[in-house]
Amino acid sequence: MRFVTFVDNGVERLGVLRGDRIIPLHECPRDLVDVICGGPQALHAVRAEVAAYRGLGIPMAEGHLLAPIRRFRRDILCTGWNYADHFAESRGQPAAPPAHPTFFTKGPDTVIGPHDDIAFDPKVSAKWDYEAELAVVIGRAGRSIPRAVALDHVWGYTLANDVSQRDLQQVHGGQWLKGKNIDATMPIGPCVVTADQIGDPQNIQLRCVVNGEVRQDASTRQMAFDVATLISELSFGMTLRPGDLLLTGTPAGVGNAREPQVFLRDGDEVVVRGDRIGELRNRVVHWDLATPSKGEAS
Ligand code: MG
Repeated sequence: MRFVTFVDNGVERLGVLRGDRIIPLHECPRDLVDVICGGPQALHAVRAEVAAYRGLGIPMAEGHLLAPIRRFRRDILCTGWNYADHFAESRGQPAAPPAHPTFFTKGPDTVIGPHDDIAFDPKVSAKWDYEAELAVVIGRAGRSIPRAVALDHVWGYTLANDVSQRDLQQVHGGQWLKGKNIDATMPIGPCVVTADQIGDPQNIQLRCVVNGEVRQDASTRQMAFDVATLISELSFGMTLRPGDLLLTGTPAGVGNAREPQVFLRDGDEVVVRGDRIGELRNRVVHWDLATPSKGEAS
């Protein structure tokens, strides 16, 4: 099944996609993490409700899609440098590819919906960049998960655009916190596809298109560390829980590595596509992030 979170007559609600129409769910929780935590029983209840639905559904274009996961109990877990060609194109990387995956996190305030505007303020950064990524939704808790059973802990998959501020990565000591955590800059979605619908997560073609120009186009097969290895390594001594989101890294083609470099600007349209998952389509829009404020979310 493909789950979306959307606004239904002013109410935030879960839905399941049938083609390009949303079947609204009224009998189950309104939060996808609650469904995930409910295990097979919760999924069974959703299947029964969908099977009993007799309406036409809501056209996707008419339902305001929100980020499919809205409630995060921890930061979003992320992977850096997980495609060999992206590692090679990066600036300031170690001399040799690392023997283990590189991990960092992004805060929940970065998350926006699949069609929302990406916040952009040139006063905060002059180097806004895109990163198309496959994201994994954890379904079963575990610590020190063996690689051989790691995919059994996956509930589903979605897409993310790990929008980054390259100069903020550098000026604060070459770290990945400031340059990866600006408010309202990371679209996720458009849906979470249950793992049974995806099959092999290393067989997804990822694309990033900016203003109609293909900038990234690669298969997840090119990952340096596959999804099972990421889960196994990240969970070593550290519990992963249902609803945790793990980004798996981006392939080559980011703007920071191009000659000449090219960065996102006000008005750009960025589309991230993934086979069997769908697309994120977001406009980069100026938003005052630099003036002191109480920090209301978008
Ligand atoms: Mg990334």
